[in-house]
Amino acid sequence: MSETGTAQHTYRVELGPRSYDIHIEPGCLGRLGEAMAGLFSSPSRCMVISNVTVAPLYMDSVRTSLELAGWQVSECILADGERYKTMESFGLIMDALMEAKLSRNEPVIALGGGVVGDMTGFAAACYRRGIPFIQVPTTVLAQVDSSVGGKTAINHPHGKNMIGAFYQPKLVWIDPTVLNTLELREIRAGIAEAVKYGLIRDAALFAWMRENMHAALNLDADVLGKMILSSCRHKAEVVMADETEQGQRALLNLGHTFGHAIESMTHYSTYLHGEAVAIGTLMAARLSEQLGHAPAGTEDAIRTCYRQVGLPVDVPAFSAQQWLDAMGHDKKNVGSRIRYILLHGIGNAFLAEDVSPDAICSLIDSYLA
Ligand code: NAD
Ligand code: MG
Repeated sequence: MSETGTAQHTYRVELGPRSYDIHIEPGCLGRLGEAMAGLFSSPSRCMVISNVTVAPLYMDSVRTSLELAGWQVSECILADGERYKTMESFGLIMDALMEAKLSRNEPVIALGGGVVGDMTGFAAACYRRGIPFIQVPTTVLAQVDSSVGGKTAINHPHGKNMIGAFYQPKLVWIDPTVLNTLELREIRAGIAEAVKYGLIRDAALFAWMRENMHAALNLDADVLGKMILSSCRHKAEVVMADETEQGQRALLNLGHTFGHAIESMTHYSTYLHGEAVAIGTLMAARLSEQLGHAPAGTEDAIRTCYRQVGLPVDVPAFSAQQWLDAMGHDKKNVGSRIRYILLHGIGNAFLAEDVSPDAICSLIDSYLA
């Protein structure tokens, strides 16, 4: 991994009174305490929420930095995994906050991947009707996607992210060096989310990602820094234009209608979210070609890229009816219509609400043939 040391970037997400900075800098984890000094008039109590995998790796560094800056730190360490993104874990966070007696203006800090970030954000939105929260994302996915934009949630047996709130953080503090301890499979799934921004709105980013894929997978500091910054900028631009997903924010769900169906049909046990979304994106690309929206070769170009990333590219075999049933439950549907994000080509996604079930059947048939 090459060293750059000075490669730091700050990007401001402008949302009026809910504006905040995204700061990206190798090694910045140990300076979180300093960074928070600018946000609060004086340090008081705070709580760091993490999980049993991430806390042993990074809690000491975060705690030391906060204590040196004068903060009184308590911790809430949760079980690891999407299956713990539940009401029960939410209850444990509430218990910890009550016991630590955090007041309305004392912050919680999410130290972990998207699961910890989403749960912490939702807990912050609810405890005393809202306390400040800070995102310290530690997975590629969380650094390029979930820590920015204010979607917070927990799961319910009836569906993923069904209980949640739009609630923006006060700061997103990104140290790419923490990715060194992340499993390669998680790195690949996170890179898929960065490729997604290229597919949706930035063909040049897609081309750049393909050229630099080897370096990205090896966590090269320069490439990683640029990938995270471009991703955060795209996410922030979309969120600034459409904070609560009335319109264009839905484009970020490219691959998700099929991806969520894949996750649910395989009971969330076979694919990581990013992997399911990658397969879903290939399906959206083929559907776009079949409906005449995208030029021939679009799907192939994306598949070649995903192969470079090392992502699964084969569509699991389920009947058209199974697909339609699974997608009918997608909560992003307006009324009973299923919404698809399709492509006019690489770098140009659009929302289609008029895709017929027949078109989906033909798409599925093309895989089963
Ligand atoms: P995750 O949080 O489960 O993290 C993946 C695994 O990596 C976990 O086992 C975790 O403990 C471990 N880990 C985290 N950081 C590590 C590190 N630095 N070193 C070693 N291990 C580490 O999964 P994720 O992919 O980060 O996030 C997925 C979640 O994000 C899903 O619940 C999804 O719904 C949510 N999400 C939210 C948004 C949003 O806008 N809020 C967007 C996309 C995804
Ligand atoms: Mg996603």
